[in-house]
Amino acid sequence: MLANGTRYLAIPGPSVSPDRVLNAMHRTAPNIYAGALHEMTESLIPDLCAVARTRGHAAIYIGNGHAAWEAALANVAARGDRMLVLATGRFGHGWAEVGRRLGLEIEVMDFGQTADIGMERVAERLAVDRGHEIRAVLAVHVDTSSSVRNDIAGLRATMDASGHPALLMADCIASLGCDRFEMDAWGVDVMVAASQKGLMVPPGLGFVFFNDKADRARERADLASGYWDWRPRANPEEYYQYFGGTAPTHHLYGLRAALDMIHEEGIEAVWKRHEVLAGAVWAAADAWETEGPLRLNIADPGKRSCAVTAAGLDAGQADALRDWCERVAGVTLGVGLGREPASAWFRIGHMGHVNAHMVLGTLAVIEAGLLALGIPHGTGGTAAAARIVAMAAR
Ligand SMILES: *Cc1c(COP(=O)(O)O)cnc(C)c1O
Repeated sequence: MLANGTRYLAIPGPSVSPDRVLNAMHRTAPNIYAGALHEMTESLIPDLCAVARTRGHAAIYIGNGHAAWEAALANVAARGDRMLVLATGRFGHGWAEVGRRLGLEIEVMDFGQTADIGMERVAERLAVDRGHEIRAVLAVHVDTSSSVRNDIAGLRATMDASGHPALLMADCIASLGCDRFEMDAWGVDVMVAASQKGLMVPPGLGFVFFNDKADRARERADLASGYWDWRPRANPEEYYQYFGGTAPTHHLYGLRAALDMIHEEGIEAVWKRHEVLAGAVWAAADAWETEGPLRLNIADPGKRSCAVTAAGLDAGQADALRDWCERVAGVTLGVGLGREPASAWFRIGHMGHVNAHMVLGTLAVIEAGLLALGIPHGTGGTAAAARIVAMAAR
């Protein structure tokens, strides 16, 4: 009844692609053998590295986050290598599964669905690995299912303190371009990302960033078949090698536009925008939580992602709320992932091309849905969110 107008997909990926990105993609195919496309592609690599805050290397794959997960592991590991996966939600387990299917010896340290990585447990495990069998430590920066944000710099400090030489590999698929991430300063050796979240481009590109230490591990890695090898992609002698074949031409134009937008705003300002908008979501939730079943999954604001928020209600209520918001008000919320019962959980994506009216509108719609469905909640959520926006803009 009230849904006609621009619909808004407020799920944690794929995120909203800006018109500027979509318009850049809306063209006939360019010449892939020479000319403007080649120059444009060359310009993408340093700009991607700037967003990742690294002076290392970047390889682009035609694929999604799962492809980047697999590519990253295949380039540093030999069959049977031991990897320590620190899981704080569904996506850590997902990366672990990819490793298992590559034939790696995967050890999962599970921190549950509501907490971040506990550094003491990591330190204890590394301390007893005297033979340095663990080749890499894998961590998800922001686990999109739980919306926890892990302390990657702290993880590096923990690894350094134990004197362990393992590579540090981070999944920034949800966080890149949303939550602050400093690949080099935080000592991350390999980082994976994808196009469709904070980078605002439709799904279809996966990225693997790596430093020289990780590239040395490539020497003994025997899992990367020709297509997945990161070296020709990162050091191409001919244009075809960037992509192992025909370039994903239209996605590249979209990515160029997205990187221009990030550069024009400034990465610090991009992070700040996400921080303020996430703060508005949390302020609304704080008010709603004072009465009734609603609660944010991550209790400590310092451990919450600025890209996505997972929240719980009673069984069935989240399904009803998502349905109401989409059908009546034109806002699609994310489903609960990896939680029981799934019908009690929903997620709000606030990643990439989001601004105050998108987030305030979403929160007001959620509040209307809670009212319409008779789900008890504290009052003043939308007003509290508006105050955060007003204060940030002062
Ligand atoms: C979305 C996501 C993935 C999976 O990416 P796909 O493109 O769906 O394969 C992996 N890790 C995190 C943290 C994600 O948010």
